[in-house]
Amino acid sequence: MKKRILTGDRPTGKLHLGHFAGSLKNRVELQDKYEQFIIVADVQALTDNFKTPEKVSQSVCEVVMDNLAVGLDPEKSTIFIQSGIPQIAELTVFFANLVTVSRLSRNPTVKAEIGEKNFGTSVPLGFFMYPVSQAADILFLNADLVPVGDDQLPHIEQTREIARSFNNIYGTVFNIPQALVGECPRLVGIYGNAKMSKSLGNCIYLSDSKEDLKKKVMKMFTDPNRIHSTDPGETESNPVFVYHRMFNPNKGEVTELAERYKKGAVGDIEVKEKLFFALNDFLEPIREKRRYYEERPNLVKEIINEGTKKARKEAEITMSRVKEAMGINYYGGNC
Ligand code: ATP
Ligand code: MG
Repeated sequence: MKKRILTGDRPTGKLHLGHFAGSLKNRVELQDKYEQFIIVADVQALTDNFKTPEKVSQSVCEVVMDNLAVGLDPEKSTIFIQSGIPQIAELTVFFANLVTVSRLSRNPTVKAEIGEKNFGTSVPLGFFMYPVSQAADILFLNADLVPVGDDQLPHIEQTREIARSFNNIYGTVFNIPQALVGECPRLVGIYGNAKMSKSLGNCIYLSDSKEDLKKKVMKMFTDPNRIHSTDPGETESNPVFVYHRMFNPNKGEVTELAERYKKGAVGDIEVKEKLFFALNDFLEPIREKRRYYEERPNLVKEIINEGTKKARKEAEITMSRVKEAMGINYYGGNC
């Protein structure tokens, strides 16, 4: 039997190069070897977008099309909607007993996000405990592997703790899943100071047009300490070179540009123009595949519906095992 993957995205906008580097690339590469499930985490997206549910609902198909556009094959990868699996919510309630408030308060990703979102002391409970709900996303499928960016590692650790705790108290039901971090676990945004994130407005989207791509690349931040093109520059953390290393398949060109940059023998414009060509070559087939699905909305809906139906069957099996283990199967006449 193939091992199982659970991975996914929050429908809070279109997907970007960071998603590709952190997770989508692995999804495409692993879909033959594993039984793969991809969650569109709309319930989780609502935890910090509950006042604008239309943002979430409008992003669902976009996120699905982005996944399909990079090469995920619905015959091999099951794409499903979190809100279509009510058992996830049920499992979340049982898991909430296994986690303490102080343990959740120590989650560094949640802490950072609370700061970014300016929640102050008014953190919605749903947001605070989304790692518990994410554990239910992963565990209802008994996933073995979870391909993610490195901001998700604390959540996977929390999931493993919940699975162990459940198994210790009620008997073994859950696998202990492992995280798989992508080639670039935290791709920096175009302005260089933070990871690329839909919420921060520093993204190059997989669906960006050639014109938008060019504008974004040309305004990217480079080495902040380099004033003239004849000054020696830094390439390691320089976002333009980070993207060159990740997305430019012409490794010779990248090495040569970096050598010249370090010596102060190349201007930012040339480095950026070459990056624009490389990124445009990378994005063009993705845009084309996306157009195919954009023109076939019924096909996209069918993929979502079929995937959600398949995931729901798995959820029913897991829930009956969970309830049996917990001894709460008296409903229905088993008193
Ligand atoms: P939001 O701001 O709504 O949280 P996001 O851009 O952080 O959006 P998510 O849907 O939260 O995107 O993330 C989906 C997956 O992509 C996760 O595994 C996450 O770790 C990964 N990911 C997101 N941004 C990056 C990035 N800049 N580099 C690497 N991986 C990333
Ligand atoms: Mg995120």
